[in-house]
Amino acid sequence: MNSWAPVNEPPESAEELGEVVEELRRHLLWQEETGGPVLLADATKLAAERSASLRSMLPPRGAVAKVPPTEPVQAPSSPPRAETPPPAAPPPAAVSASPPAIRAPVTATSNGMLLDVPQQAPRYPGPLPGVVEGERPTLDQIRRELGDCRRCKLCTGRKNIVFGVGNPRADLVFVGEGPGENEDIQGVPFVGAAGELLTKMIQAMGFSRDEIYICNVVKCRPPGNRNPEADEIAACEPFLRSQLLAIQPKVIVALGKFAAQTLLRDTTPITRLRGQWREYQGVKLMPTFHPAYLLRSPAEKRKAWEDLQQVMKIFGKQAGART
Ligand code: SF4
Repeated sequence: MNSWAPVNEPPESAEELGEVVEELRRHLLWQEETGGPVLLADATKLAAERSASLRSMLPPRGAVAKVPPTEPVQAPSSPPRAETPPPAAPPPAAVSASPPAIRAPVTATSNGMLLDVPQQAPRYPGPLPGVVEGERPTLDQIRRELGDCRRCKLCTGRKNIVFGVGNPRADLVFVGEGPGENEDIQGVPFVGAAGELLTKMIQAMGFSRDEIYICNVVKCRPPGNRNPEADEIAACEPFLRSQLLAIQPKVIVALGKFAAQTLLRDTTPITRLRGQWREYQGVKLMPTFHPAYLLRSPAEKRKAWEDLQQVMKIFGKQAGART
């Protein structure tokens, strides 16, 4: 007998029964070495069933006492059958190798319009990475959880993960879309031309960059500065939500349609979303134009400034110099 294929013929003696069970025992050990506990559990169940079946075929005499037990035993140092080498053991699963589960995946058209997203986000869709239920996470914990992230295809072209920058207890958080070329090189969000404009906007509001926090929906640069795709947003968005849970700001400014639509689970165009107070997990959220868009469409700066002035009122800030 050289496999654990089902036994078709009943054993003729207790010796044969013992041989069968010994064969099963060896197979269990082989499974344990090569297949892990799941296979072992299956094989154990099978062995128990087969052992019971075999016992029922034997006369109830002392021969049964010779049957080796089927309980776990010490594993041998070598495979039981040289002619049937066991397959290579599968590599251990990497911790957090797969994207975190997203209850409400976001889909997008080729022009970046988000579709098929619920109008109301669950309170904390999750589990959120780096977050222990009932505990407020730290940004360091979330960054560690992100690691050398390979959860979406944007990892292939990036130079740096651009996690976020600023005050980890900021009352005001700006959320953008994703890193551009300069951000990718430096590993810091909003340091290119759009970043310069954002810095001016922040200063005009009466804040410094050190006081507030800045991050993006996706942490790696989309190639050629294209829009982030639905699967990329779905993979990275939980980290943004964890960041916001860690910071717990009073106000979020969503810069551009990707930030606004992702956080709000709302497909309304940014031209209609902007300037209207919304709420994200109980936090006031102001959608406005992305600075990169304002660089291309400077006439829209006035509207963005109006949006930011509403934010300033929350903080009792006086209007500063207009950018
Ligand atoms: S974009 Fe986000 S999910 Fe994708 S590889 Fe970068 S950090 Fe990971």
